[in-house]
Amino acid sequence: MSFKEHIRVIHDYPQPGIRFKDITTLLQNGPVYKEAIDELKQLVSKWEIDVIAGPEARGFVIGAPLAYALGVGFIPIRKSGKLPGETIEADYALEYGKDKLAMHKDAIKPGQKVLIADDLLATGGTIQTSINLIHQLGGDIVGAAFLIELSYLDGRSKLDELDVVSLMQF
Ligand code: IMP
Repeated sequence: MSFKEHIRVIHDYPQPGIRFKDITTLLQNGPVYKEAIDELKQLVSKWEIDVIAGPEARGFVIGAPLAYALGVGFIPIRKSGKLPGETIEADYALEYGKDKLAMHKDAIKPGQKVLIADDLLATGGTIQTSINLIHQLGGDIVGAAFLIELSYLDGRSKLDELDVVSLMQF
């Protein structure tokens, strides 16, 4: 299936010069959304996975159905101040902004095999921060899965040790 035709590109959002890849047009199409998750499932089947961790908010709409399809747990990586339990936090810089990400201290057991899932790999900042948090908790990261990879930003090169799969490359 050609997934790209289901991605809407919005120019100058959220800032001038950015060509925002809007995945809502893919998500609203049931058969295409299902096919995308099924194909990601195939791509990650080479890894042994105990849990999937995904950063809010769009990491949830990819990571949670993928976790369900694989029958593994899902761990939310959230913006600072959103998780109710004891957390660890790390700073991160986005393609167009800055923030802090947090995870529950007891979200991962040391040695658990973790797959990171998100909608889109841009500069790689979000995933680097997620890796940092998961490593602090003793998780063993097996790879990262994305719907979209913005190859022109070369986020992959920042994730040197990490195996990356993506359904679409721009
Ligand atoms: P990175 O940290 O620079 O790799 O940016 C990736 C994060 O920013 C992901 O969590 C995306 O949800 C979000 N993001 C960056 N650019 C886009 C875009 O063009 N479309 C949708 N999300 C984006």
